Amino acid sequence: MDLKQLKALSVLGWNFGLHLLRAAVPRRQEDQAEKFRSYFRPDRITSFTPEEHRAILEFESCTLCGICSSHCRVMATSAGKFLGPEHLAASASRSQPEFASDAPSLYLCAVCGQCEPDCPEQVPVARMAMHMRSMIRRVAPAVMPQPIQAAAHNLAQHGNIYGQAPALALPRRPDAEFTLFLGCRERMAPERVQQRLKLLERLAIRVTGVDESCCGGVPETLGLDPPPAVSEKILAAGPKKVLTVCPHCTEALRRNPALKDKVEVSHLAEILAERIPSGTKARDIPTPVAFHDPCHLARGCGLIQEPREVLRRLGVELKEMAESGDRAPCCGAGAGLALKDPALGKEVARSRLADARAADAKTLITACAGCRDLLGSARQDSDPAVMMLEDILAD
Ligand code: SF4
Ligand code: SF4
Repeated sequence: MDLKQLKALSVLGWNFGLHLLRAAVPRRQEDQAEKFRSYFRPDRITSFTPEEHRAILEFESCTLCGICSSHCRVMATSAGKFLGPEHLAASASRSQPEFASDAPSLYLCAVCGQCEPDCPEQVPVARMAMHMRSMIRRVAPAVMPQPIQAAAHNLAQHGNIYGQAPALALPRRPDAEFTLFLGCRERMAPERVQQRLKLLERLAIRVTGVDESCCGGVPETLGLDPPPAVSEKILAAGPKKVLTVCPHCTEALRRNPALKDKVEVSHLAEILAERIPSGTKARDIPTPVAFHDPCHLARGCGLIQEPREVLRRLGVELKEMAESGDRAPCCGAGAGLALKDPALGKEVARSRLADARAADAKTLITACAGCRDLLGSARQDSDPAVMMLEDILAD
């Protein structure tokens, strides 16, 4: 027997002796589960709700391969401020969350889902970010960035994150085919509301107004409590079809369980693609154009061909950008990114305008007011003009 074997044998003998001793001495009965929990109390370890626990099990399928991190425009633009989806996945699934240290990066995720189509494990990265934010709201609300706290306050007080009253009440029409749901951003702008109403009238699309409140889409991305049920108002409005102009509203209302199978929700791009005849006159705009796919339209609702069909019917030449359709990056406005870090939001928007320039587009078209506003505010003289899809139709 060599020295190593002798050492191992003596450790084994020592432990065996200890075991016999412990078995021989009677011990006080304790609530072992309580004792186990007590170890963690000083660390303030967060308890999960059953739903949160189920979600975490799903997130654990992430293998931390890092593929997603090479498909995140926000990460690529943020110069290290946003640690990216792989880091987010590790925080959400591998250990107890460290809210205070996770928050600065977490709230820079645009919840856009650009990183998801290439994930080999189909990990719902955007949902992970929402999950973490919702836990922060529940467990450590003081960690929420100030603009998100203000949005939460506005939502509770005014029913929308902007804290403003709607610009005007839409007319009610008993013969309407659609309930028109404008969304919080657009219904605050009277001129744009009137433009939309005029356009719909010209196309003989009969709409009625509804006493709108937030659809719940944006609050969900910020991890905030959903606003009071919008579904009852929509159901009470009458029509079995809802026409939305905001992709986020489209996605949120389609996913709303109280509306499922009761109303059909369509985005304006879908209706235009169906109803405007080929050869309809377009406004005289600089061409060719590029189309920026809003995240919630392309990935959220799968509406990728519809806006392109509108352009085709109008005879407008389209140049595709390098990343488009379900691979399109966020414009920079997603999920409070531009609220939390306006400079980064604008930088992301500038990178999208650069994509349009690289595609030789003279006008950048989109179908989301949030994208239009941020891309429009970030553009410089050398960049293409930014327009909404419906605004290309001639008066
Ligand atoms: S989320 Fe998907 S792509 Fe990203 S690290 Fe995890 S498994 Fe890889
Ligand atoms: S959801 Fe968007 S911003 Fe968030 S990690 Fe994925 S690509 Fe990046």
